[in-house]
Amino acid sequence: MRELLRVASGDAVDLAAVDPRSTPGLPDRQVTGEDRKAWARTQVELLGAGLGRHQEMLFASAKAPAGPAPSGPAAGRRVLLVLQAMDSGGKDGTIKRVAGAMNPLGLHIRSFGPPTKRELAHDFLWRIRRALPAAGYVGVFNRSHYEDVLVARVESLVPEATWRARYDQINAFERELADDGLTLVKVMLHISHEEQGKRLLARLDDPRKHWKYNPGDVDARARWNDYQAAYAEALGRCDTDAAPWFLVPADRKWYRDWAVAHLLRETFDTLGLGYPAATFDVRRERERLLGTRGPVKVNGR
Ligand code: AMP
Ligand code: MG
Repeated sequence: MRELLRVASGDAVDLAAVDPRSTPGLPDRQVTGEDRKAWARTQVELLGAGLGRHQEMLFASAKAPAGPAPSGPAAGRRVLLVLQAMDSGGKDGTIKRVAGAMNPLGLHIRSFGPPTKRELAHDFLWRIRRALPAAGYVGVFNRSHYEDVLVARVESLVPEATWRARYDQINAFERELADDGLTLVKVMLHISHEEQGKRLLARLDDPRKHWKYNPGDVDARARWNDYQAAYAEALGRCDTDAAPWFLVPADRKWYRDWAVAHLLRETFDTLGLGYPAATFDVRRERERLLGTRGPVKVNGR
């Protein structure tokens, strides 16, 4: 899936060439319709269990054992899933279903909204650096520094020269993270204009979903083509081997979850994780444990 969904780097990715309803990589022996969906949902649960095991190994290897501290990239090993999408593109749903399969203890989930006054007083990567997962953790970013070449560009929040210079800044930043042991998995959830319309309407038509609706979403929707162009260029310019971009067709939620779970699973596999060896004499500790006596009696009780 990492090969199949990886974008082609260059000036701009051809988003229009990827059908948001398509299901690349889904084994075609799978029956159609509801059954396909049920199959994918079951697979996500199975994959989720595997993700959980890998996450535990990552967490365990970062628990500093006694002795000399390890150095080099392996010392700060962590994973960061970056999720970007248009409004209602499924970022929250993916976090719930895919990240939700892992142990909350080892997760580090952050969302990025419009920068605060304090954040604006710094460069755009400042708040991102502060939100990075520590060694041993799996981080998930719901939006990211890419907003600074997406909304910032479409809404002309900064001059063109400023957002253009950010592609190189982002690439240098991500290279630095990779060298520091952070494995990036950047995913754009690709939905169609039509599907977004349906999802936003569903939010309006169900009072239990009003909290998810933001009138600003319609303004962003009105600039759909501008956003697609901004995404296309950001993905093309910032797809590197150190920090690849993946394009996941996301009109079908079950496929989206299945694909992202696979991407994470394959990413974990490249890390060659294992459980760390004990830093104590296991046999001796066993003897000591079995040799412990019951509670000491006080005053004969
Ligand atoms: P939501 O993800 O629905 O909570 O919306 C978050 C909002 O914050 C979106 O409208 C984003 O475009 C906006 N946002 C996130 N990062 C930035 C940024 N760096 N500059 C401006 N707006 C941003
Ligand atoms: Mg929103």
